[in-house]
Amino acid sequence: MLKGIAVSEGIGIGKVILAEEQSLEYIEKTVTDKETEINRLEAAVSDFCEKTKKQAEELAISVGKNEADILLGHISIVHDPFLMGEAEKLIKNGKCAEGAFAEICDMFITVFSSSEDEMTKQRSVDVRDVKNGVLRILLGINEIKLSDVPKGTVIVAKELTPSMTAGINKNHIAGIITETGGMTSHSAILARALEIPAVLSVDRAAEILRNGDTVIIDGSSGEVIVSPDSAQMENYKERQRRFIRDKKELEIFRGRPTVSASGETYELFCNIGNPEDALDAMSFDGEGVGLFRTEFLFMDRLTAPTEDEQLEAYKRAALTLGEKPLIIRTLDIGGDKDIPCLGLTQEDNPFMGLRAIRYCLKNRDIFKTQLRAILRASTSGNISIMLPLITCIEELRESRRLIEEIKGELRSSHIKFNENIRLGIMVETASAAVIADVLAKEADFFSIGSNDLTGYTMACDRGNADVSYLYSVLQPSVLRIIKRIIFCAKENNIPVAMCGEAAADPMLIPLLISFGLTEFSVSPPSVLKVRKYISIWTKQKADKITEKAMSLETQGEIYEYLKTVLSSHSSDN
Ligand code: PEP
Ligand code: MG
Repeated sequence: MLKGIAVSEGIGIGKVILAEEQSLEYIEKTVTDKETEINRLEAAVSDFCEKTKKQAEELAISVGKNEADILLGHISIVHDPFLMGEAEKLIKNGKCAEGAFAEICDMFITVFSSSEDEMTKQRSVDVRDVKNGVLRILLGINEIKLSDVPKGTVIVAKELTPSMTAGINKNHIAGIITETGGMTSHSAILARALEIPAVLSVDRAAEILRNGDTVIIDGSSGEVIVSPDSAQMENYKERQRRFIRDKKELEIFRGRPTVSASGETYELFCNIGNPEDALDAMSFDGEGVGLFRTEFLFMDRLTAPTEDEQLEAYKRAALTLGEKPLIIRTLDIGGDKDIPCLGLTQEDNPFMGLRAIRYCLKNRDIFKTQLRAILRASTSGNISIMLPLITCIEELRESRRLIEEIKGELRSSHIKFNENIRLGIMVETASAAVIADVLAKEADFFSIGSNDLTGYTMACDRGNADVSYLYSVLQPSVLRIIKRIIFCAKENNIPVAMCGEAAADPMLIPLLISFGLTEFSVSPPSVLKVRKYISIWTKQKADKITEKAMSLETQGEIYEYLKTVLSSHSSDN
């Protein structure tokens, strides 16, 4: 059995087709007719743009607009004046078009791939795709196409590039396995959009697996079974049927409000990372956006986005959502989120360092640019501002003061904005939780960032396997702290959401209902599942479960208890 990262749910059973990489070797030659060589590169680039545009049109039909936009992004990469300018310089120094273009792309690839941040790393895949696309044209080599593979194919590749997948036929692909990539890589986004089971980062998959091998992919556990025996085949076919049945059952929750069994209504929002994701939020039936992680707008680029670029992005998301709420979180960087274009300084302990709101309050220009863009976008929808990583009231007060200052500037320039825009905070540090009573008097709303809150409460780095046993939202201390945050919000009559991963955890849902959470914000594909798990509990039953869970003393006991509660509920129904 092979193991990788499970990125797209479902069971896939089929035969392997290896999408092997073609050799793009070229002979380095010194050119004398530099003008002709520059023309050759320019012609190849313009040919590449034509082809990419066509592929994007195909991809928009076969997969969706978001995926097509990734390909259109390749045209922007190749049009980057720095990239083309440097390539021409190299040709003028005697390099051939292939050598010059490859060298400059490799430079970008090295910068992006050495980043700690997965999104920026992903950008290196885009540049590699662009480099290979242009080289293929210069060398006259045709590209691998996945559009005409037979039904029941499991694609195995080192990595799946967006251009390879143009024209992909979803009904013929049983699964995807790659050697690289994680939750937010293109292969993962594509697999989820097409609802194809996928397991990524399977070590040496393209070497171990051969064309024609039968494989089973479990897109929930990340397991890949090669040449299964008949018992395994039967077992997984049954699981496949169950998965399809459960998924269909969730469809009855589409278009319905989010209501508990005793009639209390909740808001069920989505977490997004870019304006295009707002379309996903809508198509997965989200009731708005509870967390727009704006740091993604700053990743994978050489300079920070301007005020106008940000304004466009926020407006686009707001217009997609119409009247539905859009909560825009200001820049949350540092920790594990590196932003090369901001040139953050290395810190010994970045999770404790100049992160998020601390960075913004120290780098006022960047913060004010973002706040101005959000305020200017605020006439285009139902927009609120949310501050990340608050630890003390001064950070909230100073941010509010800055917002008021910018409002004054906008008024004097006769630029419209929403005068009553709400300002909320993420409660994701132990300090903020402890002073939640104070913060709730001045914040317009809370959103519990359970991902960071768990880490900071347990003093535990979730990336460190040696202490990962401590990283659980079901730790008694984390549950008590969540209860307190919600209590303080309710005491002060402000809405309180949870936007960390735990908001979509069926085990935690009865506790969140009992504590009095008012909003859930989850990844778009989790919306219907969360709506279902909210619908199964009455407030009274949720209170009983919570009372018992909160009386237990260890994470293990709480986990076992909630697991039993959930499975006995499923068998009763
Ligand atoms: C969180 O910490 O729970 C959260 C939602 O923020 P992020 O995951 O972006 O750090
Ligand atoms: Mg966080």
